[in-house]
Amino acid sequence: MPATYDTPLGLYIGGEWLSGGGRDTHDVLNPATGAGQAALPLATIDDLDRALAAAERGFIAWRATPPEQRGAVLTKTAQLLRERADRITRIATLEQGKIQAEAKGELAAAAALLDFHAAEGQRIYGRVLPRPSGTRSMVLHQPVGPVAAFCAWNFPIMNVVRKLAPAIAAGCSIIIKPSEETAGSAVEVLRCFQDAGLPGDVAQCVFGVPDQISRHLLASPITRKLSFTGSVPVGKQLMKLAADTMMHTTMELGGHSPVLVFDDCDLDKTLDILVTHKFRNAGQVCVAPTRFHVQDGIYDRFASGFAERTRALRIGDGMDAASQMGPMANPRRPEAIAELVGDATGRGATLLAGGDRGGEGGFFFQPTVLSDVPLAARAMNEEPFGPVALLTRFGSEADAVEEANRLPFGLAAYCFTENGRRQNRLGDDIEAGMIAINTVRLSWGDSPFGGMKDSGHGSEDGPEGIAAHLVTKAVHIS
Ligand code: NAD
Repeated sequence: MPATYDTPLGLYIGGEWLSGGGRDTHDVLNPATGAGQAALPLATIDDLDRALAAAERGFIAWRATPPEQRGAVLTKTAQLLRERADRITRIATLEQGKIQAEAKGELAAAAALLDFHAAEGQRIYGRVLPRPSGTRSMVLHQPVGPVAAFCAWNFPIMNVVRKLAPAIAAGCSIIIKPSEETAGSAVEVLRCFQDAGLPGDVAQCVFGVPDQISRHLLASPITRKLSFTGSVPVGKQLMKLAADTMMHTTMELGGHSPVLVFDDCDLDKTLDILVTHKFRNAGQVCVAPTRFHVQDGIYDRFASGFAERTRALRIGDGMDAASQMGPMANPRRPEAIAELVGDATGRGATLLAGGDRGGEGGFFFQPTVLSDVPLAARAMNEEPFGPVALLTRFGSEADAVEEANRLPFGLAAYCFTENGRRQNRLGDDIEAGMIAINTVRLSWGDSPFGGMKDSGHGSEDGPEGIAAHLVTKAVHIS
């Protein structure tokens, strides 16, 4: 029997679920079939004003709530998320397409992040500075205020938790607009917060026309911080809006991650982890390995090993346990990937695997490997955000680093080498917010996640993720 998408969708404002009422709706699609499966109500300007008023009230109450009480809500939310894992991950796959195993991994990581923030929110310390006897100066860190958060569809559970958890731990209120395309997962996450006892006004969740919502929320003097996960062009547009009220910003934008593979790496191990990581979530990951720069001595073996492993991947409906890669999330993505692949082969790249749509009816694109891709190819310069591996050769370490730093992006980079001194140099010289050496894992709850250059600024996760929701004050007492 086909799995059912059975979550009632609504806006969550002031502790109430709202739907109907003549609001416009958006059809949430199943990427594996292209069929509509639920109608999502879209917020009116009136709804947004109610959300702003609720967030203003919520902030006043929540900032005065003891940190251990805030932490207890986050801990309970993590527990509910784990208890409801089957239901929530099914919804995530049905609306986003990723395979069930990945949705379950995403949920587990989101629950762990909630646990981290539950504890870290209780460690917001200030400083007392020595002054002449009887006097002192203090440095205080206080919650910044109501947050407006916007996030993308690629991690429908984690992206939402990454916005809510640090804001709530720090004592802020928040209005979140997750992606309309993956609304069900967001609604389920909000229900966990609600059932864990989060007071109604602290977190609001709205959906609608993204441009209209961001303009309205960012123009309001109530909003004190913008937190965005999405593309570079939209990020730049939102930064301009945020400038008018001088609000704080955390921008987690796109990337174009280089992978430097040196002659001295453990080739089979490197190939095994890179192929799996490349095609995770059909390549729709901001830190996805994208440009594979491989040293001359192992290039041919790397390319044939990569292509062979890629051709063996099974693509299909994410609900099918046999699938190793699901469809892309929406009809825009296979369209964009087909264009980038056509451009690269037209400029002389060699197609080693995939290259076309696959599956029937849904938004599929085959896992694709292109070899000897010229630097002028569009895909070598624009974020593909899809299942395409771009392979090129390099000679020296200096050439590889120069190429890694060539683009305006600076989110993640991967290096594979057994040479310890080189590992240190690469960590120093590559311009990226996260560098993984002989591993592909760079997201841990306790370490900062974020980029530099056009990939954005500020960090999520780790103590830095909480610090990004605080303002600093100096108080001098005589
Ligand atoms: P897009 O930029 O149109 O939308 C990305 C997300 O941003 C959407 O989910 C939407 O909720 C939000 N958004 C869009 N316009 C907005 C606005 N004016 N105000 C507030 N929120 C807004 O792109 P897309 O076609 O959905 O995805 C493709 C591109 O998005 C990729 O090239 C990639 O760079 C980027 N992307 C990045 C991430 C990431 O994790 N950094 C995630 C998903 C998508």
